[in-house]
Amino acid sequence: MQKDLHPATQAIHSVQQLPEDIRPVVPALYLSTTYRRNEDGSYNHGFVYSRAENPNRQLLEHSLAQLEGGAAAFAFGSGMAAVTAVFQSLRAGDHLLLPDDAYYNVQLLLREVFADWDLSYTPVNMVDLAAVAAALRPNTRLIWLETPSNPLLKVTDIRAIVALAKTHGCLVAVDNTWPTPVLQKPLDLGADIVMHSTTKYFGGHSDVLGGCVIVREEGELATRLRRIQVLTGGVPSPFDAWLVARGIQTLHLRVGAQSHSAAQLAVFLASHPGIERVNYPGLPGHPGHAVASQQMQGGFGGMLSVQIRGDRTAAMRVAACLRLFTTATSLGGVESLVEHRRSVEGPDSQTPDNLLRLSVGLENTADLLADWEQALGD
Ligand SMILES: *Cc1c(COP(=O)(O)O)cnc(C)c1O
Repeated sequence: MQKDLHPATQAIHSVQQLPEDIRPVVPALYLSTTYRRNEDGSYNHGFVYSRAENPNRQLLEHSLAQLEGGAAAFAFGSGMAAVTAVFQSLRAGDHLLLPDDAYYNVQLLLREVFADWDLSYTPVNMVDLAAVAAALRPNTRLIWLETPSNPLLKVTDIRAIVALAKTHGCLVAVDNTWPTPVLQKPLDLGADIVMHSTTKYFGGHSDVLGGCVIVREEGELATRLRRIQVLTGGVPSPFDAWLVARGIQTLHLRVGAQSHSAAQLAVFLASHPGIERVNYPGLPGHPGHAVASQQMQGGFGGMLSVQIRGDRTAAMRVAACLRLFTTATSLGGVESLVEHRRSVEGPDSQTPDNLLRLSVGLENTADLLADWEQALGD
């Protein structure tokens, strides 16, 4: 540092220089929005400006692409920003099919935002293949899937839908937020696009919002999504990317344990007299069990829903009596959550009034079962 500089100048430049050979075990956080240019005009590793490329985001994207077996991944500031990018890759006049029980905000996004951009959609029961075939139109460009679904855990046969889409020449995108690639890999089943809310299991600690889109191959679609990501700018902050990447390191252990606990809780609740019905694809009696067994591996996930014997008031009472399941929305964190879906979904919700949705956390399984036992009483 030059000695003859004004203190104001020194204050700025004295905190810029760190040795370049520091070797942290945990990736450093790159908050810098801009990068030094070399004399020949080039930039080391291609980092120029943080909206276009950032080391923490790049690490995360490589990891996401690898986990899903895709050619490229694009990280966003939320799951909804990722969904938006996929819809923006379509064109005015296109049509898409949406599960009739898709994540509620996806339908709202199409209805309230994309309808004005002339992107139309038809809600379909994706379990009914004849209904899916009948809903296809000449301008249908995309079939959107979410399986197991929210909150009834309906299971869609991804391979069968992919076969239908191929004959029609349209793309298949799967919201894989619930199962995660630990339990289900849509690209291996023939899908073209996988989308995640990384807010959920990837982050895993309910402390970061994020989303991503992963594509099976490089090509026109990947190029378009990459341009949309950089030009619309809905990218995650470096720290958010860092947090999601940290979460990924324990993803397999967490999802494995959460899925194991959820399966035990499902069996316990299915035989409890206070419960009318348990929706969990791991139960042999679940209508989607056979398909789920074929397309999922290693478990059926940490999410389930239960229908309490009684009405809405009875369901609310049970939720309030639970001590280890916190009443809150969202899912996929280390803490168990319970939610009365009907009351958060809005006026045209199809969800039964006695239904509670559970996100099973990482607490001890026996403690979770005991909590339900005391909440249901006898
Ligand atoms: C949470 C969620 C989303 C939306 O993601 P955000 O990160 O909240 O924007 C989309 N799909 C599913 C299945 C989700 O659970």
